Amino acid sequence: MSKSNRTTQEWQAADARHFLHPFTDFKGLAAKGSRIISKADNIYLWDSEGHKILDGMSGLWCVNVGYGQQSLIEAAAKQMAELPFYNAFFQTATMPAIELAEVLAEISPPGFEHVFFTGSGSEGNDTIVRMVRRYWDLKGSPERQIIIGRINGYHGSTMAGASLGGMSGMHAQGGLPIPNISHIEQPHWFEHGQDMSREDFGLKAAGWLEEKILALGADKVAAFIGEPVQGAGGVIVPPSTYWPEIQRICDKYGILLVSDEVICGFGRTGNWFGCETMGFKPDLMTFAKGVSSGYIPLGGVLVGARVAKVLIEEGGEFNHGFTYSGHPTACAVALANLKLLREQHVVEHVRDDIGPYLAQRFAELNEHPLVGETQSCGMMAALQLVKGKTPDKPTGTAFASELEVGMICRKYCFANGLIMRAVGDRMIVAPPLVMTRTQIDEMMGLIRRCLDQTW
Ligand code: PLP
Repeated sequence: MSKSNRTTQEWQAADARHFLHPFTDFKGLAAKGSRIISKADNIYLWDSEGHKILDGMSGLWCVNVGYGQQSLIEAAAKQMAELPFYNAFFQTATMPAIELAEVLAEISPPGFEHVFFTGSGSEGNDTIVRMVRRYWDLKGSPERQIIIGRINGYHGSTMAGASLGGMSGMHAQGGLPIPNISHIEQPHWFEHGQDMSREDFGLKAAGWLEEKILALGADKVAAFIGEPVQGAGGVIVPPSTYWPEIQRICDKYGILLVSDEVICGFGRTGNWFGCETMGFKPDLMTFAKGVSSGYIPLGGVLVGARVAKVLIEEGGEFNHGFTYSGHPTACAVALANLKLLREQHVVEHVRDDIGPYLAQRFAELNEHPLVGETQSCGMMAALQLVKGKTPDKPTGTAFASELEVGMICRKYCFANGLIMRAVGDRMIVAPPLVMTRTQIDEMMGLIRRCLDQTW
């Protein structure tokens, strides 16, 4: 029975009665009522009351090609009619999954010829834990169990994903982290490095990895995992010295290097993968989100030559997989998405045009009395809300946490028809990659208005 003629209040009441939302205070949601998003086109959303909203977050960092792309919609419909589902277990395969594996090998950095599909980024990172430990077992070093992640990193919400991540709120619930996961501090210059240059801080922050490896015992450490640019942690762009030094340290101790490309992959940073922008060569890469521009769930692990060789030649059966590993409809949509990104040169558009333009427009916000720092990388950017800026200390000082200035600013964004996310006092955007300069100007006008109202 169609319920499409319900009022917004009726939708909200049904929502509060039955739907437990992710990362949400269930009771608080019932009191306030959800904003119900009912349609979308290009970079805009509309809610159930007809308000137009500029989506500065690409849904949840995923709608890289924007909404309403016919070729993705048609690919899903065609594949659903032909073969909506078949699995990849027990010596079977489907054509879209095979073709997508080929295309991913084409666009990945040299040495990445193999992919393991999952349904999400979290499942991809769970796969990493099992694959990395399997690799070391097969290499005859089963004592290499520990995977090092970073405080405030985000790698998903499953037991392993949330353990690899370093979100204290997540670790506080459900008995996390799981054993043999360790963390180092994040490369956040604004918080930890203002007494030195960004480059020096990058080396110092990478050095925390070496200290941790030595403290744990190098022969016990299996891998290091990080997002090239931390997304959910607040778009923290590391100094240029950071990742090459991390690479050097991993190489020195023979530790596998894992790049979580769930946000940074598929053009977000101005290259196909964030590791290319940040100048390092991982052994494994997790992906999701932008691979299908979020039109349908899909994720996976791209496996570099060092690991693939051992798993394939010495591994026997890998006892791991998901019903939806290589889901044909999801793979067909991803193929259409990657075709669009390639044919419309979207990655180059980010690298050469709108990425630098977004950076320039964000840098202008440094003049605002509330803004202590701006950072950007491709089509992701952040501004840090501060108070008390002076010529001697243009980065200002942090607000007391109980003031929740970020939430106040976010409330104005909502009211002005802009989706911008608050991470503490850091306001972040990651808009669709197909945005034009005019649309960036429109977004920047809204951001300035929200900052003025917060001030
Ligand atoms: N890794 C990173 C870097 C992410 O940002 C996310 C989600 O935001 C994940 C992993 C988890 O992906 P998913 O929500 O698809 O499980």
